[in-house]
Amino acid sequence: MVSQLSIYEYLTRMNRFVCLTCFVSVLFNCSSSKLFKNSSFTSEESKLIMSANSFTPMRVYKITNKSDSLLLRQKSTHVVPNPKDNVLHTFTKRLYATVTDSLSLGVGIAAPQVGILKNIIWVQRLDKENFPFEIYLNPKIIKYSEEKQEVREGCLSIPDRNENLDSRSKEILIEYDTLGGAHFTETVEGFTAVIFQHEIDHLNGILYLDHLKKELSE
Ligand SMILES: [Zn+2]
Repeated sequence: MVSQLSIYEYLTRMNRFVCLTCFVSVLFNCSSSKLFKNSSFTSEESKLIMSANSFTPMRVYKITNKSDSLLLRQKSTHVVPNPKDNVLHTFTKRLYATVTDSLSLGVGIAAPQVGILKNIIWVQRLDKENFPFEIYLNPKIIKYSEEKQEVREGCLSIPDRNENLDSRSKEILIEYDTLGGAHFTETVEGFTAVIFQHEIDHLNGILYLDHLKKELSE
């Protein structure tokens, strides 16, 4: 009788234990999917971004590499501005470290150029005092001037080339989000407007060579 009771008690406790374990694991799954939802990045992207500290440049994808080239042709997606998103925070810093690195020095860079398909760019504001680099989330061009300008362009993802293009608008109206979640529209002109057009093209899988082909066929 005693031993039967013990077995009964044991089974009841085990049952409770199993239920508790299930409950804890359900809770854990909920919170991990919630965390994942709050971040704009996929788990593969998060892994790549967090594999080094925020001062470490990332590898620049090049069109001379077949799999890099396939990614550079894809469209990026919206990113949720959130200064508490640690992955986003680390990523913007690593992207900055990349564009200011002596091996991949540029006046602008877009997230797909380091394998991250998100609407994020850094642009060096050559139209501002001391030429600061600024970060833009979800940038879009909402108006192009009819007037064009001729400029010589190069790209970190297209090694050993630079060409003259005459199809870039002289002035553009852009809209974008900041890391803190503010939304702005702004008119940009001159060479800085070319940097924005070049980097925002990257977010749509377009490279400057595509404009060159268009110009040649016209
Ligand atoms: Zn480029």
